[in-house]
Amino acid sequence: MARAMHAAMTRAWLIGAGPGDVELMTLKATRALAQADVVLVDDLVNPDVLQFARADALIVHVGKRGGHPSTPQAGIVAQMLAHLRAGRSVARLKGGDPFVFGRGGEEQQALHAAGLAVDIINGVTAGIAAPAAIGIPVTHRDHAQGVVFVTGHCAGGAEPDWAALVATRMTLVIYMGMRRLSEIVGALLAAGMSDTTPCAAIESATRAEQRHALARLGEFAEAVSRAGLGSPAIVVVGGVASLALARAAAAADNASAPANGAAAR
Ligand code: SAH
Repeated sequence: MARAMHAAMTRAWLIGAGPGDVELMTLKATRALAQADVVLVDDLVNPDVLQFARADALIVHVGKRGGHPSTPQAGIVAQMLAHLRAGRSVARLKGGDPFVFGRGGEEQQALHAAGLAVDIINGVTAGIAAPAAIGIPVTHRDHAQGVVFVTGHCAGGAEPDWAALVATRMTLVIYMGMRRLSEIVGALLAAGMSDTTPCAAIESATRAEQRHALARLGEFAEAVSRAGLGSPAIVVVGGVASLALARAAAAADNASAPANGAAAR
């Protein structure tokens, strides 16, 4: 009886699709996606992950990129509720992890308020995957005792307390920081962070079009703009980024060495 009831229950999932590379999706995510009648897809999700959805699933793109107007959050929740109440299972597919700057918390609250259950399926968040894609660990015993995930896009002007974050001496991983990068760098310098602090920006991490820029804090905003980087990108500030800077410097040395330099090594 209990099993029959469970089978009859419609289901909702908040699924993290990971940063882009399809292979970084979890098995659990692909299995849930394969069951859903309806898939509501955010704009940062790599469309290739839809290969795991049912051929007859209704796929709805609710993102704001690609020239389409974004669907307001209330509209997305209303769509989810309408499908669930009509007996259809709904997979809400988000980039990275659904509970890291993904508004997954708000959607879970809305479903709970409507008396509906929802399963959360974690994804690999860009804040860890993007640094890793260029060899930067977010923690490292020689460089940082912890990591702070922070948004650079401040809804309603609620600016993070950059001075307090600098004082932690932890790795700063900044999401949505590209548009205000110069201001953020200025705030970090004003808070006393050294202008030699290693920094990295990684755009479209784990995708074919991945690009990045590396520089010390004092030249970082300039380096990012020279490289022409934009969103979506993760910014990493802290000693851990020195791992990528050191490798880039070694590669540049090798490239500029005379032809017989390689033999001399
Ligand atoms: N829930 C997502 C974050 C959504 S907020 C996660 O856990 O990853 C959107 C921001 O995430 C972007 O502005 C960018 O800072 C970051 N982001 C998402 N995907 C990215 C990618 N493939 N490469 C670099 N940054 C990415």
